Amino acid sequence: MAGEKEKGKEINRRGFLKTAAIGIGATALGGLAVSGEAMAAQKKEARWHGEADVVVVGYGGAGAAAAITAHDAGKKVVILEKNEKGGGSTYMSGGFFVSPQDEQGAIDYLMYCAKAGGDKYFDVDKERISVWVKEAMKNEKWIRSLGAKDLSITVKGWFDVKGAEAAYTSWQLKPDTSGVALWQVLSDAVAKRKIEVMYNSSVVELVTQGNAPGKIEVTGVVVQKGGKSVSIKAKKGVILTCGGFDYNESMKQNFLAAYPNYSVGNPGNTGDAIKLSSKTGAALWHMTGTSATICHKFPEVPVAYPSMLKLAAGLFGSLIFVSKYGERFFDEAQGSYDVPAKAMYNYDPVKFDFANLPCWGIFDEKARTKAPAGTPVPMGKPIYKWSADNSEEIAKGWILKADSISELARKIGIEPAVLEKTVANWNRFCAEKKDPEFGRELGLVPIDSAPFYALKGYPGLWGTAGGPKINIHGEVVDAKDEPIKRLYAAGNASGFSFPHMYPLSGTAIGDCFTMGRIAGRRAAG
Ligand SMILES: Cc1cc2nc3c(=O)[nH]c(=O)nc-3n(C[C@H](O)[C@H](O)[C@H](O)COP(=O)(O)OP(=O)(O)OC[C@H]3O[C@@H](n4cnc5c(N)ncnc54)[C@H](O)[C@@H]3O)c2cc1C
Repeated sequence: MAGEKEKGKEINRRGFLKTAAIGIGATALGGLAVSGEAMAAQKKEARWHGEADVVVVGYGGAGAAAAITAHDAGKKVVILEKNEKGGGSTYMSGGFFVSPQDEQGAIDYLMYCAKAGGDKYFDVDKERISVWVKEAMKNEKWIRSLGAKDLSITVKGWFDVKGAEAAYTSWQLKPDTSGVALWQVLSDAVAKRKIEVMYNSSVVELVTQGNAPGKIEVTGVVVQKGGKSVSIKAKKGVILTCGGFDYNESMKQNFLAAYPNYSVGNPGNTGDAIKLSSKTGAALWHMTGTSATICHKFPEVPVAYPSMLKLAAGLFGSLIFVSKYGERFFDEAQGSYDVPAKAMYNYDPVKFDFANLPCWGIFDEKARTKAPAGTPVPMGKPIYKWSADNSEEIAKGWILKADSISELARKIGIEPAVLEKTVANWNRFCAEKKDPEFGRELGLVPIDSAPFYALKGYPGLWGTAGGPKINIHGEVVDAKDEPIKRLYAAGNASGFSFPHMYPLSGTAIGDCFTMGRIAGRRAAG
């Protein structure tokens, strides 16, 4: 309670009403500011400036799912969002979400993706994952119930797990498949229910009572808005859906297996679930887990561009990736974009270095004209674009250009003889229609049409999984796995289903829907 009293002093009731009168509070708290219920609560307990049954922190996919579910269970919900708009990384996404087709197949598939070698696994067990799968199987029906009309399965499990890959399926809306369209469905459903959303409202502290381990209870949140602190009571619970730590450099340095690691997602995701829950004694989990891809990052643009080069390698060829020493390091055309990102995590303890980080996409004139090397950001409604033939990025110096492979190698800073040998080998594999190095079967087209190009790549986070540990009810737990009363988390704030390798496009948003609903139900119950 220590912090609560101070917060009470910081803005007392009079102060709050004054703020409301000059307009900030009225906009800030919307219905909360003027509702009789809130006023009564303030009278009874001067330190609260508003209240709801369930307070949802962060308005992306997980926040929307949690809020809709708690609302539909009859509870008054308020969503607090740090940005001026909702959507987070969900809005920026490719709009895939998993909705598995077969329970046992999906469990087998997810267990395979959590393999740590031999008979060992990363932090997923069959019991927990089967509860998740059962709920995730409802995702397609749920999104239809919110108003999505046309949907289809667009990808199936990347990894061949004795047929189980067919059970683990990911869907997209049609005709607009992007996260923008998916977000429209979610935000329309929130608006239709008149769930209150407070924007520009960053939750900076959880209000708690009880100090002893196992006795801590979350009673509300402190929100920073327009330079003011406002306390909101949560009668039933607080659900942390404030995303991962994609933009927290210190957390990335501490928790991720490679550095640097750039983000292709929402800059508001700064690890706040970890910061907020720390005072409750929450345990952490899945801290090294990410969903990632190769990205291209430039100082002029705050967000990294997801790479299209891996896709282009399989579709068109005349394109390989090489390490910083000029050697190939994976099958560029295999299905998972998580594989190359994780292959960049390979640390060389002898050199104190990541050999594959940064890596370089190497391609020729044929490939250059066929497709853009980077996707627009956000995908559905771009602010940062990428030219169709890559000419603008060449002009900016983002893509290096040379008339020969040796000259390209010199520009990159790779030993020319090594890159020449790598490209010559690749061209021979294409002629022989066999890649003995990595078994690549698609895009066996030589790199032989000058000029030649190189584009630097880094691990790019679609999102991080690590955060306060949750149980299968979405309850945040302490180091003894005891639930912390009235505190919940979902989505990238605490990624449930991808502790290590990312199973398939759509797993993260599928996780947001699944754990968002589970946490929303539990908090409302
Ligand atoms: C370019 C891109 C493409 C992707 N494509 C896919 C895909 O097709 N399928 C898929 O499954 N995954 C995809 N991902 C990953 C996926 O989008 C994310 O894992 C998922 O959207 C995370 O949802 P979330 O609700 O946990 O977080 P978000 O959607 O990021 O929402 C979190 C929200 O919390 C807010 N917030 C943060 N801190 C606070 C605070 N203190 N107070 C209040 N609000 C706060 C943030 O501003 C944000 O709006 C993609 C990601 C990117 C970036």
